[in-house]
Formats: sequence, C-alpha cells, structure tokens
Amino acid sequence: MEGDIERVLWSEDQISNRICELAAQLNVDFMAATPPIFVGVATGAAVFLADLVRRLSFPVYIDFVRVGSYGFGTQSNGSPTITSDLKLDVSGKHVVLVEDIVDTGNTIARLVSHLESKGASSVSVCTFLDKPSRRKTTFDMVGKGKFYRGFECPDYFVVGYGMDFAELYRNLPYVGVLKPECYRGIAGNQPQN
Ligand code: 5GP
Ligand code: MG
Ligand code: MG
Repeated sequence: MEGDIERVLWSEDQISNRICELAAQLNVDFMAATPPIFVGVATGAAVFLADLVRRLSFPVYIDFVRVGSYGFGTQSNGSPTITSDLKLDVSGKHVVLVEDIVDTGNTIARLVSHLESKGASSVSVCTFLDKPSRRKTTFDMVGKGKFYRGFECPDYFVVGYGMDFAELYRNLPYVGVLKPECYRGIAGNQPQN
C-alpha cells in the first residue's frame, strides 16, 4: 500500500498535532454548551471523527449519516442524496458535522440544510481537509455554528486517513497522492481534481 503513494501531503505527526489544535478550539467553544452531536459523514470521516472526539474534554453524542453521490468515481454529481439518516434526534441540539473533505461544497450544503430543517439549534462544520478553490456551492452555518478545518488542501485527489480511491486506501495513517499507475484498471475513475 505504501508503495502506491507518490507523495505524502500530511504525515501522521502533522495530522495528530493539528487535531490537538482543533480539539483545543472545540473545547473552548463547546465547553459551556449542552452536549453536542458530532455527526460523521460515512465512510470518509470515520477515522478523523474517531481521533477528534477522543481529544475533547466534554461529552458528545456520536452519529453518522451516509450521503450518496460518489459511488466509485471521484467527482461529485452535484445533487447528493441522504441514503442513511441520523439515528439521534437533533432538534434543539448543537450539531457538529464532521467531514473528511469539503470539495465542491454540495454534500455539506445538503447536510446543513437537512439538519436545520430538523430543528438543530446550531450547525457547525468540522472538516479535516478543505479545498476552497473547487467550491461550487455556498453554505452558511446555522445559529452560532462555526466552520472548522484541519488543513487547506491543494487541488489534488488525495487518499488516506479515511479517504478512499475506489473504496481502498482509507486505512493509510497519513494523507497522500496515489501514483498514476494505481488508477489503471478502474475504468472512468481517473481523478478529475
Ligand atoms: P463535495 O460534495 O464537497 O464536492 O464532496 C465532498 C466529498 O467528496 C468528500 O466528502 C469526499 O468523500 C469526496 N472527495 C472530494 N475530494 C476528494 C479527494 O481529493 N479525495 C477523496 N478520496 N475524496 C474526495
Ligand atoms: Mg466525505
Ligand atoms: Mg469517496
């Protein structure tokens, strides 16, 4: 698996240092609030969410949503649908949406409005990576919600730390870019970004 990586963008140490900083900020912002619900967007955010919540010093609820728009490809189709909804009731609760990467913004915009319509009292977004140069949709936080991000990501298709190519490489402990030959054999799945 390591041999498939052309370039490492963020090492395990860099990731863990940045997660400590993010958690410190969340500890300040949420300490006095009623326990928030951290909602991971499956599957990509699972690794980030697991590391992040264990650095928090206040109790949180944890839930997951699943959004369909990617399949085996690498480009968002522009109209994500929620294929698996939350188990918990978010009405009157503070929600932190936890994402692996915000790219066009379509997925997060859909989820923020979904949670708002379910009566969340605030919706924040905490994304591990952010690719602002590729944004196609704007979205606003709800209530006193804030936007948190781990790193600004250059316009590469990245894998590891939860993020996949064709459902593989999620278990790499760092973030990297695949060698071009690793995309071969999966028709129509060349990264577009
Ligand atoms: P958006 O709806 O913002 O365009 O897409 C968000 C989702 O696209 C992310 O949660 C992620 O699953 C996927 N995505 C966007 N860029 C990348 C990337 O560079 N690598 C991987 N593995 N997934 C990406
Ligand atoms: Mg995702
Ligand atoms: Mg994916």
